[in-house]
Amino acid sequence: MHYQPQKNLLQQRIILVTGASDGIGREAALTYARYGANLILLGRNEEKLRDVAQEIEASGGAPARWYTLDLLTCTPTSCTELAQRIATHYPRLDGVLHNAGLLGEVRPMAEQDPAIWQQVMQVNINGTFFLTQALLPLLLQSDSGSLIFTSSSVGRQGRANWGAYAASKFATEGMMQVLAEEYQGRLRVNCINPGGTRTKMRASAFPTEDPQKLKTPADIMPLYLWLMGDDSRRKTGMTFDAQPGRKAGIAQ
Ligand code: NDP
Repeated sequence: MHYQPQKNLLQQRIILVTGASDGIGREAALTYARYGANLILLGRNEEKLRDVAQEIEASGGAPARWYTLDLLTCTPTSCTELAQRIATHYPRLDGVLHNAGLLGEVRPMAEQDPAIWQQVMQVNINGTFFLTQALLPLLLQSDSGSLIFTSSSVGRQGRANWGAYAASKFATEGMMQVLAEEYQGRLRVNCINPGGTRTKMRASAFPTEDPQKLKTPADIMPLYLWLMGDDSRRKTGMTFDAQPGRKAGIAQ
């Protein structure tokens, strides 16, 4: 995507990123901060989150706050409590990037471990829903809120061996569409499919692949910026590819 954002694209914006400790989410948090946003970092590893917050401040960004929330064990109550803690420091949320995700097992349906299936659904769908529900009141305080979910090519076309992960990403697309229709005119809701990107998750799904052949998280940031900022303000209920035309990989 060729997109040249204004340097102040996200000035005064308050943006929350889940899975901000690593991979694409970490890069998105650093990038949003560079374009002027105030960042709220969510993840399960306090040390990694603190490092990201320090990196944001060291590069001249507005001070970021971080909160730990393990999506595997979170409940509607713990998500509501977290939203209340956030609300004591921030009057609203202008953007939420739901990026945290769990791959689970890449193997045929007949061999998918039901316990791991449930973990993938908990992290990618149930926990993400609990958190969304808890954050909606803060998002609705914004006059140009952007809620972004993270999908995958296997969330649009099922493919052998992608089991729970594929099912959870189909559900993600569905949740996005329902919310987009419910909040038409008040909050826009979209999905991003990053496409194969050089991260730990990708390496565990494709262990023999040469990572140098993949785009880095930094390479795919133009779409993340565009969809978070006002240049995309009429878009809602849509799903976007960060790497249009890229062929999906075959699970090994
Ligand atoms: P990574 O594994 O590199 O990062 C995942 C992030 O999610 C980390 O910050 C991780 O935290 C966090 N996370 C995982 N489990 C939990 C949990 N239980 N509670 C809270 N946070 C958690 O993955 P990517 O950056 O590659 O993936 C980001 C998103 O992009 C995911 O939704 C993924 O499905 C999607 N995607 C990625 C593709 C790719 O090729 N990379 C392709 C298509 C979609 P921690 O640092 O503690 O591990």
